[in-house]
Order: sequence, then structure tokens, then C-alpha cells
Amino acid sequence: MNPRPGWLGELWRIVLLLAGASFVGWVTGEIALWLLLALAAYTLRNLFNLHRLSRWLGDPAKESIPIHFGIWGDIYSQIARVNAHQAERESRLNRLVDEYQASTAALPDGAVAMDARGRIRWFNDAASRLLGLVTAKDIGQPLQNLFRNPEITAFLQARSFEQLLETNVPGDGSRRLEMRLAPYGDGQILLLARDVTERFQQDRIRRDFVANVSHELRTPLTVISGFIENLQADERCSDKRLERPLELMAQQAARMRHIIEDLLLLARLEAGQTTEVLDDVDVAAMLHGVADECRALRADSPEIRCEIASRRRLRGDPKQLRSAVVNLVVNAVHHTPADGHVTLMWRDERQESVLEVRDDGEGIAPEHIPRITERFYRVDSGRSRERGGTGLGLAIVKHVLRYHAAKLEIQSQPDAGSRFICRFPPSRLIG
Ligand code: ADP
Repeated sequence: MNPRPGWLGELWRIVLLLAGASFVGWVTGEIALWLLLALAAYTLRNLFNLHRLSRWLGDPAKESIPIHFGIWGDIYSQIARVNAHQAERESRLNRLVDEYQASTAALPDGAVAMDARGRIRWFNDAASRLLGLVTAKDIGQPLQNLFRNPEITAFLQARSFEQLLETNVPGDGSRRLEMRLAPYGDGQILLLARDVTERFQQDRIRRDFVANVSHELRTPLTVISGFIENLQADERCSDKRLERPLELMAQQAARMRHIIEDLLLLARLEAGQTTEVLDDVDVAAMLHGVADECRALRADSPEIRCEIASRRRLRGDPKQLRSAVVNLVVNAVHHTPADGHVTLMWRDERQESVLEVRDDGEGIAPEHIPRITERFYRVDSGRSRERGGTGLGLAIVKHVLRYHAAKLEIQSQPDAGSRFICRFPPSRLIG
């Protein structure tokens, strides 16, 4: 690298100074003294310049650059260039932050930025509207201390980035809010809150409609089933030609009753109309009971066995849990050949406990797996109807598990069998 002109000038200055001092020293016969004097003067000058530099660096905006030439001029102009560059970057960043804050402020969704300890650093207008936050009062406060709703407090405390919370808008029971947490930066957390009142109301209308229709259909169906039973028992209808139609009518009426019962159960599960007090459920006894019951489903039933490896019990609604397990086992039995196996398992996996229904039957093609928990979704509708399936079994399982804060995992391969794995969190376990 070429030395800068300032450096060259400075070198020449030293050389000239020393040559001048040597010359005067030679004339006066005191070379060492004059050289020492010259070096002392040079050092003093540089000390003075260093002092000016440090004063100038303290507040560069206050004075203009004090020296414009030589090595010191170079140093000053380079520092000034770096400063200008820095200032430009800073103002660009400030503009970006302003733009970002303005755009987030305009969002219809609430956003609250919190530090690693959950204290509020910033929030937008929608957050103050939806959560009732007030800038002057709430900045710096731990967010979870601001709500009286225990659901929100527990959600914020849990700091789970996967779960969503749907709850009432604080102080306004007629509006619904969906909240989620997202991590960002160095341990900071962003809370996003969305007004989902409209979706909630539409869901409620749909749920109520299905529940009402099912309810209304129940009574006429009971009457029709009663008449069919009477006709089947009546000797005057013992005509062979009537036997088959009456049998089919009874079968179809039973199927409709089954669908209606499942729809009503689903509506209750969705509406959260479940027992408030949770029981202590003996999972091992429940699985043995379901296994015994399901062996009678088919004359050529596959082998059904239980593998119990956990002593833990579940805190939950025994009826609901039993109906979920029955649905899983009935499916497994119907999709497994007579020489196959269905295994009901209960085991611990670290903090969680897992209830699994596994079969080595026909399995499910990958494209169906994401959809089979939807209502009325069947891989083969003809076959499902033939065996009295309603297409609602797995939807019920999903809702029961959701109510118990459990997760459903489905692993399956055609011709290799299926695994329905239900993972229960520690909060639902005893022992
Ligand atoms: P269905 O009343 O038809 O059984 P479900 O909701 O219980 O309704 O199940 C949906 C679909 O998922 C079934 O129609 C079936 O095709 C598929 N399925 C469920 N469990 C199994 C299983 N163990 N093996 C293979 N397919 C299954």
C-alpha cells in the first residue's frame, strides 16, 4: 500500500527537523543537545495535537475540523468521513424503525413487544384497543399482571409458541380474541392478538344449526324406529316379501340414529359443554374394557391385545375418553384382516404419556391422512356406510383430545398398518 501524502509530508518534516537540529548542533558544537531539543519540540507538538483531537472527538459537531493539512489533517478527515457514514446509517435505521412502527401501528391485529421477562416495551393501536393497554401507564409493566382473566395469565405464563388461545376480549364478553406468542431477537416475545368475533359467531351459528337439526330429527326418528319394530313383531307382517324391506328400514333408522348421536356429541364437544369436574381415569382398566367389548364386533376379529407400561392415570372425562378409544379401536378392527393384530398401548414418554391404538391392517394412503379427522371424510364411503360407519368417529376423537389438551398423531402406510398416537401433557396426568 502506498503511504498517504500526509505520511510522506510528516516524514519529510521529521527529516528536515533532525537535519536542521544537526546543522545548528554542528555549528555550535552541541549536536546531542539540539537533536534532543528538536525531538522534544516535535513530541510536544504531537501531544498538543492529540489533546485537540481528544477534545474534538468529545463533540465533533461543536467545532469544525481544527487541522486540515499533514498527517493530522488526514486523521481528522478520515474520522469525519466515518462519522458522516455512521450518521447516515443511523438516520436510515431510524427511518426504517419509524416506517416499521407506522406500518405495525396501522395493522388491524394487536401486537405487543415484550422483553425476555415479559415486560411491555411497545404495542400498537390495535393492541391498546383489543387488550385495553395504555401507553403512559403500561409500558414497562409485566403484561401478564394486567389481566384478570386466568386463561390469559396462564397462557402468557406458559410461553408456548405453538398454542393459540381463543378467549373473550378483556372487559367485553361479546367479543372474541385469538392470541399467539412468537419469539424474536434475544429472548424477546411478540404477542399477536386478533379479533375473531365474526368467525366465532359464524361457527356458533353453524354449530347451533347442526345441533338443532339433529335434535329435531331425533324425535321423529324414534317414532319411526318404534313403528318399524312394532311392524317387525306384528304377525300380520310376517309376509316374506315384507321381511327384507323392514329389516333394511330398521338398519337405516339405526344408522341415522347413530349419526344424530355422533353429531350431537360433536356439537357438545365443540361448544365446550362438557363436565367441568375432571375425574381420575384408570386408563389400563379402560383399555382392557374396550378391548373386551370390541372382540365381539366381528366373528372373525383380529387379535386385540393391551400393552400397559405406565402406572399414570389421566385427569379427564371418562365417558369422552372411552368414546374416543372405542372409535379408534372399532376403526382398527374394521380395517385389519382376521389374522392381523390390534394393540392398545399406554406408556410414558418422558413427561408425557401416550395412548396408542396400533394395527397391522390395510393402512391409509398418505394423501388421505391430513383429512381423515374431518367430519364425514371417508377413504371409501361405500365400505364405511356398509359397516355402519358415520364418518364422524375421528372428528370426535380429535375434539375429545383437544378438550384434554392432548395431541393426535397419525402414522400409516398402505398395507403396513396404522398408528393413532394420543399424547397427553403432564398437566393431565396423575402419578
Ligand atoms: P368412519 O365412520 O368411516 O370409520 P372415521 O372418522 O372413524 O369414520 O374414519 C375416517 C376414515 O379414516 C375411515 O373411513 C377410514 O377410511 C379411515 N380409517 C380410520 N381408521 C383407520 C385404520 N385404523 N386403518 C385404516 N383406515 C382407517
